[in-house]
Amino acid sequence: MAEGHVITVTGPRAADSLGVVDAHDHLLMDSPGMPGQGFTDPANAIEEVLEGLATGIGTIVEMTPIGLGRDPAGLRAVAEATGVPIIAASGYHRDAHYPEGHWVHRASVETLAARVFADLTEGMHPADWLDPSLPLDPARAGAIKGGASYHHISRGERRRLEAIAAASAATGAAILVHSEVGTAAHEIIDLLESAGAHPDRIALAHLDRNPDPELHAEVAARGVTLEYDTIGRTKYHPDSVVLDLIEAVAIAGHLDRIMLGLDLGSRDYFRAYEGGPGLRYLMTAFTPRLRRRLGEDGAHRILVANPARFYALPEDGAA
Ligand SMILES: [Zn+2]
Repeated sequence: MAEGHVITVTGPRAADSLGVVDAHDHLLMDSPGMPGQGFTDPANAIEEVLEGLATGIGTIVEMTPIGLGRDPAGLRAVAEATGVPIIAASGYHRDAHYPEGHWVHRASVETLAARVFADLTEGMHPADWLDPSLPLDPARAGAIKGGASYHHISRGERRRLEAIAAASAATGAAILVHSEVGTAAHEIIDLLESAGAHPDRIALAHLDRNPDPELHAEVAARGVTLEYDTIGRTKYHPDSVVLDLIEAVAIAGHLDRIMLGLDLGSRDYFRAYEGGPGLRYLMTAFTPRLRRRLGEDGAHRILVANPARFYALPEDGAA
């Protein structure tokens, strides 16, 4: 049983009360790096979340970071309308999401860290910190996003990863880092650790884009969590690849380091926007196959226990 609390947009909540956790998703987002693929309508998000709820999703981790149209008030509205707890994110993405001239390119590591710290401990900035004089939203972030490029961590990404490591060290908040096509895993972990983050607080997203069970076992052996999110992403590979990967990593002894998310990061992926696979896919299409592979206990550990432990904060969210 997971101990401690998570911080949701509607307040703290016992980590052992989350149910099935979609450990990496998006409900409201509009990235300058993905023109025309924004999804910003809370009514559509509510429709999608209610459909997910009906299939058994208990909690959603909404990993939209600073600069991608993060909408704390919208997330509160979705959580209140559906009753589904939402853990929101602070932190920063990889370079591709920040246009030239964006404030993140010239901010010091100290400013980058202070803004994440404020999001986590006071409340999220309502407009991506574009106008620092605006009052903070009452909803606090409960996790931190990071990002790196393909086989490479740029200078700007390095500064932002150093900043989020410092914010994690100060608060105990979990860090989920976008790995581009599953690359640069060890380099990302090395950098975060040298900047003060504990491996237990680090997860890497999209590692299953590079479904290499030996590499993943090495990452898990460092104490880092693997977050798989190509479920239903048939354009990359069939779900059987993800199931084979999970089974291989479990046999290598790392079942307790795996979490799953759908990472619906563009409007084409939502049923509420007349696309797919939609939020319900995790429980309707994938989980029955996961249960057949691993049994009820193995599926429960991946869907419920591991994310509860990963996203839990040691005390009330701040050191
Ligand atoms: Zn994402």
